[in-house]
Amino acid sequence: MKHNSNLKTQKRILWLTGVLLVCFVFFVIRISVIQFIDGERLSREAIEQQTRDRMINAKRGTIYDRNGKQLAVSADVETVSISPITVRKANERELCAKTLAEILEMDEETILDKIDQNTSYVLIKRKVEKEQADAIREAGLSGVYLDADTKRYYPYNNIASHIIGFTGADNQGLLGIEQIYDSKLKGQYGRIVTARNADGTEMPYKYDRYYTPEDGADITLTIDVSIQHFLEKHLEQAVVDLQLAEGAAGIIMDIKTGEILAMATKPDFDLNAPFEITNVEVQEAIDAMEDEEEKSRATNEYFNKLWRNKAVVDSYEPGSTFKIITSAMALESNVITLHDSFNCTGSYQVAKESIGCWKHAGHGTLDLTGALENSCNPAFMQIGARIGQENFYNYYKGFGFTQKTGIELHGETSGLFYPEGSFNEVELATASFGQGPTVTPLQMITAVSAVANDGILVKPHLVKQITDSNGTILESYDTVEVRQVISSQTSEIMCGLMESVVSEGTGNKAHLEGFRVGGKTGTSEKLPRGSQKYVASFVGIAPADDPQIAILIILDEPPAGNHMGGTIASPLAGKILYDVLRYMDMEPELPEGSEIEGDVIVPKVTGMNVTEARQILSQSGLRCVVEGDGDEVNTQIPSPGVSIAKNGTVLVYTGDARPSNSVEVPDVTGKSFEEAKSILENSKFQFHGVGIENTTQGAVADTQSIAPGEYATIGTQITVEFIYP
Ligand SMILES: [Zn+2]
Repeated sequence: MKHNSNLKTQKRILWLTGVLLVCFVFFVIRISVIQFIDGERLSREAIEQQTRDRMINAKRGTIYDRNGKQLAVSADVETVSISPITVRKANERELCAKTLAEILEMDEETILDKIDQNTSYVLIKRKVEKEQADAIREAGLSGVYLDADTKRYYPYNNIASHIIGFTGADNQGLLGIEQIYDSKLKGQYGRIVTARNADGTEMPYKYDRYYTPEDGADITLTIDVSIQHFLEKHLEQAVVDLQLAEGAAGIIMDIKTGEILAMATKPDFDLNAPFEITNVEVQEAIDAMEDEEEKSRATNEYFNKLWRNKAVVDSYEPGSTFKIITSAMALESNVITLHDSFNCTGSYQVAKESIGCWKHAGHGTLDLTGALENSCNPAFMQIGARIGQENFYNYYKGFGFTQKTGIELHGETSGLFYPEGSFNEVELATASFGQGPTVTPLQMITAVSAVANDGILVKPHLVKQITDSNGTILESYDTVEVRQVISSQTSEIMCGLMESVVSEGTGNKAHLEGFRVGGKTGTSEKLPRGSQKYVASFVGIAPADDPQIAILIILDEPPAGNHMGGTIASPLAGKILYDVLRYMDMEPELPEGSEIEGDVIVPKVTGMNVTEARQILSQSGLRCVVEGDGDEVNTQIPSPGVSIAKNGTVLVYTGDARPSNSVEVPDVTGKSFEEAKSILENSKFQFHGVGIENTTQGAVADTQSIAPGEYATIGTQITVEFIYP
């Protein structure tokens, strides 16, 4: 029994100890809260009774392009605040509210509420323009203060929006260079501390303390706003003309230094109104949503997509543009020579799989030049097999594809590749022609620049230098050579090969009379295969005999049927390069008296009246056939942006006339060039002959892009491939 009661006592003591411990812990926490947390607040309030401390924003640094053009500037504005106690004490409650409401276009009641608050300092409005601030100063109200502040302004609106980025209400960088270099740009806050009497009114001026803000540093970018403008103008037109569902992206880079001269993503946004939804359909859809959460989710999604810099964030399968890299690997590792030949029967057997060439009839025997010009997959599968998995992986890594480039932008990604040592023969074969692994546009242009830059891979960069407000250079960024990937001899051969692709092969629509351009087109189907969603691209260098710049353009989801890189990406790259090379003071080397001949890009004439349309088409060297008897063009065939031969015909439909879309495609296989052309044109199709022998006597049509007997819209371009019988 005794033992039992002892146990009870022990239990009770234990229980009491527990309760006391809990209470003790509670009090310790409570005391700590008063001491450290509330204490801080209480003592701060005590100080605020005696001083009024206002922050003065520093002037944010300017962002310049490489030639000193201002891309982001801070204009002086002012912040209006009041000391409610002072206002009330001066008996100016109503006068103050009325005057401020009028000048600042604010609600008078809101201001009255602020005047009635029992605090020593209330903000009325920020970012007030100088004129309004002067008007307030003139009114001479008691207890109203104006403090210097700055407002960000972007003189070029949408230009380079994804690179420059923008700032928020507190001048903090939220995207792009504004965000990454925020700590450099923002400078140091200044302060005004004013002493006061115990009742909260200010003491005489001699007690003021003014701490000067320190202006932020200026940043000079590598981009050239003119080159940026050329790139953007053409990409923007392409998004409309080619109906690119997911927009477009492009980069122009200095091959030798890695300086980005231009980088753009379309669609873009106005840096002066980055939170504005400019897409009417999206705005309507969001307005129609009833659930607030759903609304804000949709809004966030819209902006996340719009602000996404596709050129560094998105990865894609490079497709045939990758054949440049495979060729460089093979030449550098001495597994092929320019004289080796490869056979294409239309497909190639790897392990147990038969993988096809785009040309079903096969290319026959080709050397490396021919394989690149004709973009022959079986030839590249054979080249890839000679390189071997391990070697392929090492070069792939050497060209920088397994790592981010390290450019000064947030969100950069690296593409996907098979883990080292675990990719099989079939994967090697498809990777050799650019299918399987993914890369970012920036990785791709960096690698191709290395191919053209004596084999030296340089790090791409966007910032040239950082200077303080007196112009003293704080930091400057020179060329960073990452490594030599191939020899200068291989590089020279590769530049010649790339040039022949543009002058003779699938990239020929980027050919510019008088300029030596090298490059390669690519078309890849997005995953899952069979989705009919494509990426068309072109990557190139210019001038090919002394490469200075590299260009890459990505056209994301052109409509199926008009999605080939050779048809849409290379003519666009040609137009951009033409503007850029002329701007860079490179005059075309044209033989005397010669005219620029070749294909023409169909301009947009829908929405115009017939006279205008005729005029525009005639200026482009195209014939115009009008159907219907209306005034305005409602439809045109071919679509804008499509490249057709000079003197080709554009059908424009007016009034009630609409294109009939049920014409049978005639069979032209076995016909000569002239016969095939006339048969297709008589059926109102656009004829497009390809194949290296297409102008030679004796060549016959081998394949046609739309099979005989199928129905297609009149005006559709039908590509016919010619071979020797
Ligand atoms: Zn082939």
